[in-house]
Amino acid sequence: MIRLRCRRVVLPTPEGRHRIQAADLTLQDGRITEVVPWTTPPDVPVDEDLGELLLTPAFLDPHTHLALSAVRGLDVARYAGGNMVEDLFFHLERALLPEDVLAFSRMAALECLMQGTAVVWDHYYHADQVARACLETGLGAVVSPALQDLHGPGSDAFEEALALTASLALDKDLRAEGILAAVGPHATDSVSDALLERAVALSGKLDIPLHMHLAQSPEEVDRAFARHGVAPLHHLLDTGLLSEDVSFNLVHAIYVTPAELRRIPPGVTLTLCPSSQQQFAFPAPVHLWEDAGVPWTVATDCGASNDGMGVHRELRYLLGRPTRALAHGAGFKRWCEAPSPSTAAALHADRTRQKQAAASWEDPSWLLSRLWDIPGRLHPSGTMGRIEAGAWAHLALWDPAHPSLWPGTDLLRGLAYGDPIPALQQVMVAGQWRGVRGRFAGSLWDHARAEGWLHEAEDRRAAWLRRALG
Ligand SMILES: [Zn+2]
Repeated sequence: MIRLRCRRVVLPTPEGRHRIQAADLTLQDGRITEVVPWTTPPDVPVDEDLGELLLTPAFLDPHTHLALSAVRGLDVARYAGGNMVEDLFFHLERALLPEDVLAFSRMAALECLMQGTAVVWDHYYHADQVARACLETGLGAVVSPALQDLHGPGSDAFEEALALTASLALDKDLRAEGILAAVGPHATDSVSDALLERAVALSGKLDIPLHMHLAQSPEEVDRAFARHGVAPLHHLLDTGLLSEDVSFNLVHAIYVTPAELRRIPPGVTLTLCPSSQQQFAFPAPVHLWEDAGVPWTVATDCGASNDGMGVHRELRYLLGRPTRALAHGAGFKRWCEAPSPSTAAALHADRTRQKQAAASWEDPSWLLSRLWDIPGRLHPSGTMGRIEAGAWAHLALWDPAHPSLWPGTDLLRGLAYGDPIPALQQVMVAGQWRGVRGRFAGSLWDHARAEGWLHEAEDRRAAWLRRALG
């Protein structure tokens, strides 16, 4: 058991927001066991006094494919006209060795930690190697072995993937390091209803979430209509499987309608990957998700189509959403046809209306809850993304006097709106500090180079691309 003291701790409020207050935290077995807010320090000895630093929940990234950072910078434009997942990734993924997944995932896991992320929800093939990469680098994870039976690189190995899911979920050594499991059907078109039913049953039996892509491509829509006569989400709702007592993390939800969204039952969370969706498709209609009252989060997806693993960066997309459509609307067209003070004023009035109608999208607490509270409710093993008793001890420590947060008069706004990553001092995963405080990224990188992880990843990447692309 250790007791931490800090004069600036981000605590949740009963209204679902956040406040900054001095507090002592007691940590044991990877969890926060007690939080004692104070105005004058209690007369109790502490193991570590963090002084004036800022202690927050670490970020959670609810959808990644760590190994695909190895594809970053490849000439994806050659393939982007079609279905990038099937034309490029499936082809490359068939040539991947388990050792490649380990080597590539280590590199991406380091990047995630350096960006203030404590836990990624990774969905991939050879997921035991993803778990090992997270264990070696110190990143927490919810690992989902990819399940496919209709098509895709894993379609002849779904029984093994189901067995691996169960063994990862039951592995106490991994759990102690914050590495958990979820059941990972790949997508509605690559998984049969029979396999999906088994996946949902396994989620229920192991009490772990189900993590799946949903409605991400026109090909998926095409297959849903060919098989079931309706769109992907419509069919998923019709199966009745979403009503089971399981936590669902459904990712992308691009080709969805308001009528479908209104039918989504409690227990389903949607995940938006705006930077990635801008590359492989277009950003999902998140305003319709919000209108339908469905809880939703943001995630990076992967280095191949993002191109970064900094989940905090995704908040910028949300900040701009209320006014982004204005330059494409009728008011701007009127301004172009007849530039004048009155067409400009009308446009500005429209801008003000849009901002007022979506005021919550500019609330720092609302934005940060996409990286903290909402993804933190997804896994039944315990709360993440909140500093409260019973939650996982996944924490981030910041220097509030750093130039990127200075003058630090509204630190929640600085975290939500700014570029705070250079002020990151250290990340804690499952109660263990990672890296060296104050030179966090550098210390992780020194360790990675000393272990030879960079050279291994580079050698394996070159050999893999030769095998896959010739
Ligand atoms: Zn994905």
